[in-house]
Amino acid sequence: MRHEPDCIFCKIISGEISAMTVYESDHVLAFLDVNPIQKGHTLVIPKAHWQSILDIPVAECIDIERTEELMYIVRIAAKAVCMAFADGVNILQATGACAGQTVDHLHFHIVPRCESDESPHIWESGAGKYLDDEERDDYANRISNAMEQIIKEEDLI
Ligand code: AMP
Ligand code: ZN
Repeated sequence: MRHEPDCIFCKIISGEISAMTVYESDHVLAFLDVNPIQKGHTLVIPKAHWQSILDIPVAECIDIERTEELMYIVRIAAKAVCMAFADGVNILQATGACAGQTVDHLHFHIVPRCESDESPHIWESGAGKYLDDEERDDYANRISNAMEQIIKEEDLI
């Protein structure tokens, strides 16, 4: 399994740095964020060091024990915080420094939310308004064409 000796999350996986673990399996680890947005803010990570969601090797996407377990545990962690104390949850994943990624080991944030939260919604809806319908259609087409191309190239589905 890929391990980067200088990566903070790889150090948590190997036990070099301690963390409040809430779930562990052969491929996935979930632990409390050390600097929580809300109480119970949890991170779910693959044990393999993938820098971001863009770096999961295609070969490992076929491996149900790796990627599907990761997404399954994201779902279970979200259900768990809601069962334990929260009314809802934000699931966040930052890919790239421009998106706010500060730790270069793929991770999903599970942020518990309660009706009584004083903090606002995490993103501002409508902040990325299109100039016109033509610009909107152009974005949709570029994403759709790229998705089709990647799916074809990866040849998994
Ligand atoms: P991001 O900005 O999406 O890359 O998120 C990285 C997250 O990792 C931040 O919310 C940090 O608070 C959290 N973090 C960094 N170091 C640790 C650590 N040693 N234990 C737990 N969480 C950490
Ligand atoms: Zn790592």
